[in-house]
Amino acid sequence: MTYIDPHIHMVSRTTDDYQRMAQAGCLAITEPAFWAGFDRSSPKGFYDYFRQLTESEPNRAAQFGIRHFTWLCINPKEAEDPGFAREVMSLIPDFLDRPNVLGVGEIGLNKNSRNELEIFEAHVEFAAQRDQLILVHTPHLEDKRKGTRLIMDAIKRNGRIDPGRVLIDHIEEHTVKMVLDAGFWAGMTLYPDTKCTPQRAADIFEMYGTERIWINSAGDWGVSDPLAVPKCQVELRRRGHTEDLVRRVSLENPQTFLSQSPKFRVNER
Ligand SMILES: [Zn+2]
Repeated sequence: MTYIDPHIHMVSRTTDDYQRMAQAGCLAITEPAFWAGFDRSSPKGFYDYFRQLTESEPNRAAQFGIRHFTWLCINPKEAEDPGFAREVMSLIPDFLDRPNVLGVGEIGLNKNSRNELEIFEAHVEFAAQRDQLILVHTPHLEDKRKGTRLIMDAIKRNGRIDPGRVLIDHIEEHTVKMVLDAGFWAGMTLYPDTKCTPQRAADIFEMYGTERIWINSAGDWGVSDPLAVPKCQVELRRRGHTEDLVRRVSLENPQTFLSQSPKFRVNER
């Protein structure tokens, strides 16, 4: 069965991963801008990163018939210095019209600090002014629930963002309901052993349904699995779920959300 991985950091993965993903049925991926495992020494480092996301990665993916899309921002971990962060943000307009850019992401909070929140709000306003989709990272620390609440409140405060155009990612059992109830889309990140495993994701579908929710691998330079989405497909089938359900959560839901950008399309197989 085919699928879309709507959140994976291919700059940290090998070309072999693209090959294995294509073999497993991957039609398209979307790659949010993130913390690369080290702090960049100047905004120029982001300029080159944005070039990589909009120029070289789409070509690498295309060799395997996978469409590559991206989201641009400065990640919360490097947004602690607002002056630096605003300089990086000033580079984004030059890239926004490129054919694979879907919107602003992954913005959010890491330690729920005041500076992170200031830059988060600046990105939300940037997206509102330019009518961009938003992809949000929620903190992995013990205060995920508080961070998710702060994020949703900040988006509401802006007043011009349709929650149906915002995907809040890395949700878990204790945050999924508040995100869906507020009208946002929810993303479940599948990790090999910790946090949300394919088994826990299947539990969440069984408890909360399959509307406005997607799964992704968030594969990056850490311990992660670029084949997490097809593995979750297998887990759902093992539990006796229908092919319709499997297709909905791994292909149709991401397609529905992402198609709100006119740039998004997949190569049908
Ligand atoms: Zn990510």
